[in-house]
Amino acid sequence: MPPLSFPDGSAETSDGDRSVSKTRSDALSKILDVPAFDLPATSPPRRRIPRQRLSFAGQLWTFLGVTVPLGGLVAAIVLLWGWGFSWVDLGLLLGMYVVTMLGITVGFHRLFVHRSFETSVPVKVALTAAGSMAVQGTMLQWVGLHRWHHQHSDCEEDVHSPHHGGDGLLGFLGGFWHAHVGWAFLADPPGLERYTQDLRKSPSLRAASALFHFWAVLGLLIPALLGGLISGSWAGAATGLVWGGLVRILLVHHLTWSINSVCHLWGRQPYRSNDESRNNFIFGVLAMGEGWHNTHHVFPTSARHGLRWWELDASYWVIRSLSAVGLTWNLKLPSAEAQEKERQ
Ligand SMILES: [Zn+2]
Ligand SMILES: [Zn+2]
Repeated sequence: MPPLSFPDGSAETSDGDRSVSKTRSDALSKILDVPAFDLPATSPPRRRIPRQRLSFAGQLWTFLGVTVPLGGLVAAIVLLWGWGFSWVDLGLLLGMYVVTMLGITVGFHRLFVHRSFETSVPVKVALTAAGSMAVQGTMLQWVGLHRWHHQHSDCEEDVHSPHHGGDGLLGFLGGFWHAHVGWAFLADPPGLERYTQDLRKSPSLRAASALFHFWAVLGLLIPALLGGLISGSWAGAATGLVWGGLVRILLVHHLTWSINSVCHLWGRQPYRSNDESRNNFIFGVLAMGEGWHNTHHVFPTSARHGLRWWELDASYWVIRSLSAVGLTWNLKLPSAEAQEKERQ
């Protein structure tokens, strides 16, 4: 594994000493599977990284990305009222939800951010395409921001912690809003591209990530085309676009963002994560295993987030199934001893 350098100037050490494992800097070394490193003794005191707003055009695109799917929900409700319920539309909603959510959970998160298993280049490109259809930015930007989140989880530098909104109810609501979606209106932290230099070495992944807009539009055209072909009508294409495209994007958006907001506020903390990450059953189920977020922050390279039998983890079942047919391999899992050691 090539060594990685980081914008804060922190240096890797080769001792891999578990005694420093409770520093935030160790979180990134866990993600990237490099030896543990400590923050330099001379590092300046922690402060909130000044982050500028996106350009006007950037904010407008983000605003449209957040609100257009909401408009799709309104359209869907009107259509439901006027035209009634259709099994085809429900199938397109669920089918596109599963494919694009897996693109985020299995692809962007567990494969690209955390390297929790290995796979071939064609599968990597397919997962990049599926994740891009969730319309959450390019794969490389998503990975960089999430690695940054793990390195600074719930510290002032975290890109989307709900815990720095201020005092009182307004502070709480402001923090929740920032963690859920407000952060998307801010410019990336400086030097973010250095957090993805391992992935940028692959021309196929650079190209697949850069095709973000193409994949996003394809994610709208596929349900429209299927809806039209199955129903044999333009109306079927329109409702396919609304349900399998816009309403599905709305669902995937808010379920993914809830991991940043809800799962750093409400739930259990069975493991010593040294941050506010929580295991939340509802989002464990709905977000295909991503809601076991406290477990994930403690064992970030694990391909499996729900480690107990009752902690449903659909994304891990998919990774396991792909492994059974030879499409994924070298799945990383924490040992029973490691789990017991971190339990609180
Ligand atoms: Zn987190
Ligand atoms: Zn993660």
